Amino acid sequence: MSQYWSAVVHGLTPYVPGEQPKLANLVKLNTNEHPYGPSPRAIDAIRAEASDALRLYPDPTAERLKNAIAVRHGITPRQVFVGNGSDEVLAHAFMALLKHDRPLRFPDISYSFYPVYCGLYGITFETVALDENLAIRPDDYLPNGDAAGGIIFPNPNAPTGRLLPLADIERIVAGNQQCVVVVDEAYVDFGGESAIALTARYPNLLVVQTFSKSRSLAGLRVGFAVGHPDLIEALDRVKDSFNSYPLDRLAIVGAVAAIEDEEYFERTCNAVIRTREQLIADLASLGFEVLPSAANFVFARHPARDAGELAAELRKQAIIVRHFRQPRIEQFLRITVGTDAQCGALIGALRKILG
Ligand code: PMP
Repeated sequence: MSQYWSAVVHGLTPYVPGEQPKLANLVKLNTNEHPYGPSPRAIDAIRAEASDALRLYPDPTAERLKNAIAVRHGITPRQVFVGNGSDEVLAHAFMALLKHDRPLRFPDISYSFYPVYCGLYGITFETVALDENLAIRPDDYLPNGDAAGGIIFPNPNAPTGRLLPLADIERIVAGNQQCVVVVDEAYVDFGGESAIALTARYPNLLVVQTFSKSRSLAGLRVGFAVGHPDLIEALDRVKDSFNSYPLDRLAIVGAVAAIEDEEYFERTCNAVIRTREQLIADLASLGFEVLPSAANFVFARHPARDAGELAAELRKQAIIVRHFRQPRIEQFLRITVGTDAQCGALIGALRKILG
C-alpha cells in the first residue's frame, strides 16, 4: 500500500514503453524492432546452449562477449561493459557517472527514459530545446558559464531520427571535459557513424550501443558501453554492488554469434535502409513532411491531418505506429521501418485514410 512507499517512489513517473499488443496479423511499426530475425547463427548458438549447460551459472564477467565486441570495434575488452539491454547499461551510467551535484543536460525531445532515470537516482537535469528543424544544436551543449554534471543524447536522436555528424559530437565531448558525455547509439548502425573511435582520445566519452535494433535481438536483452577503462570500472562497481550477473548463458552465446556474423548484419541493415528511403519517398508523395532519418524509423507529419487521429485510424486496420502527446511533436508519427510488405500495407492504408 502506498503509505509504505518511500519518498523516492512517490516522486517517480514510470516510463511507459511502446505497447506490445497481441493481435493476430498485426503490422507492428511502433517500437523500432528489426523486421528481419536475428542471425541464424545466433539462433543456432542459443539452441546449442539450451542444454545441460544451463545448470551452470554464467561467466560473471561475460568475457567472451566483451572480447567479441572488442575485436569488432578495434578496442580492448577493458574498454567494454555489457548489460541486460542498453537500458540497464544506461541505468548504471546514470548512477555511476552522471554527477549528482550539478544538472545533467539532454535534449527536450529525446529518449523518454532519461528523466525517469533522473527521478530514480535523484539527478537534477536541464533539458535543452532542439532547434526549429528538431535538430540538436551542438553549440547549446558547450559550457556557457555553469558546467554541466553530465550530458546525454541519442545519436541518431530518438524519436526524430536526426543524426549529428561525428565532428559535432567531438566538439561537444572536447568542450565538456569536466564531465562525462554519454552518446546513446541505439540506432547508429542504420546510417550513422559511431563515436567509439573517439573514446581513444576522450576519457570523458561513454558510447552505449544495443543488440536490440541492428542485431534484431530485442528479446535477448543485450547492450554494451565503450569508454576509457576508468569509466568502465565505475560501471562495474555499480554492477558488482548489485551482485548481479551481467548476462545469462543464452544471451552471451547468442550475442557473440550475432556480432561475429558480419555478413548477415550488413545485409539486413542495408535492407532496412533501402526500405526506409522508399518509405520516406512514399510518405512524401502522400503529402507528409518527413525528417531526414539515419535510424530504423522515420518521423513524419501531415500538414492537414491530426496525427493522433491518423494513428487511431491505422490501428483500426491493425497497423500500429507511435504517437507522442508531447509539445512540439504531437503532430508527428514515428513509424518503424518494417519489411517492404509492411511498409506497403501502411502506405496503402494511409492513402485510403487520406482519401
Ligand atoms: N536508447 C534509445 C534511444 C532507445 O530508443 C532504446 C529503445 N527503446 C534504448 C536505448 C534501449 O534499448 P534496449 O534496452 O533494448 O537496448
